[in-house]
Amino acid sequence: MKQKILLVYTGGTIGMVKDKIKNTLVPFNFDGLLKAIPELKSDELDLENVSIKSPIDSSNMHPNIWVEIVEIIETNYANYDGFVILHGTDTMAYTASAFSFMLENLNKAIIFTGSQIPIGARRSDAKENLITAVEIAASGKVNEVCIYFEDQLYKANRTVKVNTEHFEAFESPNYPILAEAGVTIKYKSVLQKKQNQGLIVHKNCSDDVAILKLFPGIKLAIIRSILNSAKGIIIESFGAGNASTNTEFTLLLSQKIQEGKIIMNISQCLHGKAVRGQYETNEPFEKAGVICGKDMTTESAITKLMFLLGLGLTDDEIKAQLQTNLRGEITN
Ligand code: ASP
Repeated sequence: MKQKILLVYTGGTIGMVKDKIKNTLVPFNFDGLLKAIPELKSDELDLENVSIKSPIDSSNMHPNIWVEIVEIIETNYANYDGFVILHGTDTMAYTASAFSFMLENLNKAIIFTGSQIPIGARRSDAKENLITAVEIAASGKVNEVCIYFEDQLYKANRTVKVNTEHFEAFESPNYPILAEAGVTIKYKSVLQKKQNQGLIVHKNCSDDVAILKLFPGIKLAIIRSILNSAKGIIIESFGAGNASTNTEFTLLLSQKIQEGKIIMNISQCLHGKAVRGQYETNEPFEKAGVICGKDMTTESAITKLMFLLGLGLTDDEIKAQLQTNLRGEITN
């Protein structure tokens, strides 16, 4: 039986052309993109496509557009075997992480891909990325949100963009890759199993969040103003989850948590994790009651916080869920 795949175009370099006046890359329409890859047509595949209203450079991404894309998936979920989302690479890891939370009990592949060079350009990486992403979506082996890029299939909420110059734009620093495309596509045993329950779509992501990246000498006034700016705050701390032992910093964290802020600590390092109690410099977080986000990526931590704050849970429930492995985003 033919596999039905829906291609959802959102913009990004993959579909861009040069604006002749400004000499910058801008998104263009999707028809040109499909014409550039006749190989996408296959007897085993029924490939249809849809575009969001106004394709964007993904640096213009916003949770409202997440909802627009999620609604396309929701409306078409029963009629397709899998979905490929064409998305700019800049914020692909954020959108893909957000979708892993917004789409609960997913039983089909949602594969994000894009390219570093526009599809019309001679040395473009778009063709291979798109053709293989479609093949993976149609394989029936993948039941989760993933990013496919330059021969690797990554778990969405473990992926970060690490390179603007190489074709290998992404990495999954703390989780094995899900599949590797060579002469054949080799799927690994870490793939998610099928679920028995029906899809639940969550569309309410809170924007009452902030990220505080520590650096040596950061002023307490700056930390205070960022903590004051939102309900939920991700702190990117040093090394294995450490920070200055300055008493005023610890007191400020305690005070903000008592005022009702939800604060989670993750590491600035790409590989490894924030841990409790390895160094004395982890004490400010321990003493104040900051949640330890372990090996979550920044992209995953912030979108998980947006998702949980949008669910209307109590603060204690949010804190418990943040530390729970919901979609494979954290190693417990
Ligand atoms: N600025 C582009 C975007 O994220 C970059 C890309 O697609 O690679 O839309």
